[in-house]
Amino acid sequence: MRADTVKFVHHEDYLKPTQGPGHPECPERLEAIISYMEQNDIDAERILPEPAEKDDVLRVHSSEYLDLLRNFGRGRLDMDTAVYPYTYEMAMLAAGGGMAAVRNMLDRREPTFALLRPPGHHATRDMGMGFCYINNIAVAAEWLRKKLGRVAIVDIDVHHGNGTNDTFLDRPDILYISTHEWGIYPGTGPAVQTGTGMGDGYTVNIPMCGQSGDATFRAAMEKIILPVLSQFKPDAILISLGGDAHYMDPLSSLTLSSGGYLDTVTAIAKLAEETCENRWAAFLEGGYNIRALADVVGSCMAMASGRKTETCYNEVSDTETVGADSVSEARAIQSGHWDL
Ligand SMILES: [Zn+2]
Repeated sequence: MRADTVKFVHHEDYLKPTQGPGHPECPERLEAIISYMEQNDIDAERILPEPAEKDDVLRVHSSEYLDLLRNFGRGRLDMDTAVYPYTYEMAMLAAGGGMAAVRNMLDRREPTFALLRPPGHHATRDMGMGFCYINNIAVAAEWLRKKLGRVAIVDIDVHHGNGTNDTFLDRPDILYISTHEWGIYPGTGPAVQTGTGMGDGYTVNIPMCGQSGDATFRAAMEKIILPVLSQFKPDAILISLGGDAHYMDPLSSLTLSSGGYLDTVTAIAKLAEETCENRWAAFLEGGYNIRALADVVGSCMAMASGRKTETCYNEVSDTETVGADSVSEARAIQSGHWDL
């Protein structure tokens, strides 16, 4: 059953700059989503988060790395990832936001949106990278695993979530599925990487060639993602929701439309409703065209509140399944693990 009011986690401190002036990972990204909700009268209720407990974060990150981040002062972890004196607190608050989202999802069996900054899916056990410091969705998935048997993560950010991928590579209880553009940052996530040891088959990478968009995503959903999810039988589904596979995004060349995004998230939500008592949550990752990001995230929130919604940016250039070969390759590889 769908809720009438959609819950979202947000905190004013998520609006601090993390990368410096003019950087695409800017506070305006979140502000645009919040104003979309107001302008479109989305019936939404805020959950105010607390910082994550260090013990929960230590299930994903090393204590050496957390100490490094806390004591870093001001500087850069790498070219893409600046550190301010408040970055550690802000990242812990984002991780706590993810926890608040899954707690609400679990208690109330309703979809919940974690509207967080900084994002998390690139952060690895020992280092932040790619605008990410603490892997919010990985921390939340680990916490959920104490309560539930199986958790699925579906990452539809245009970049491969290398941090999440690596965290759960050897785990059969946390399924990681990622669609991403092949050949861009961070360069990880080939289709042949399917997990290690007991986790073999529980990492599903679907790299896509440039220009892949609506038809390719539809094929990936129908031929791989939905069947794998159905067979895995998750107790909850977490979505790494990056808006950067959108055709308007400046950092990638995938061409997913807002309507294509909404269809993708709606199909996952429907499966969650049918198979895991509506336990799904979306975590904000990337998305750097502010209007497209607000259109994608806002329309998904409207959908979760049970409302029919119209998206604004609906140019579909991939009508012929540009990435058909990518999907076929990933499907052939995953057929060794799943009935596809
Ligand atoms: Zn991204």
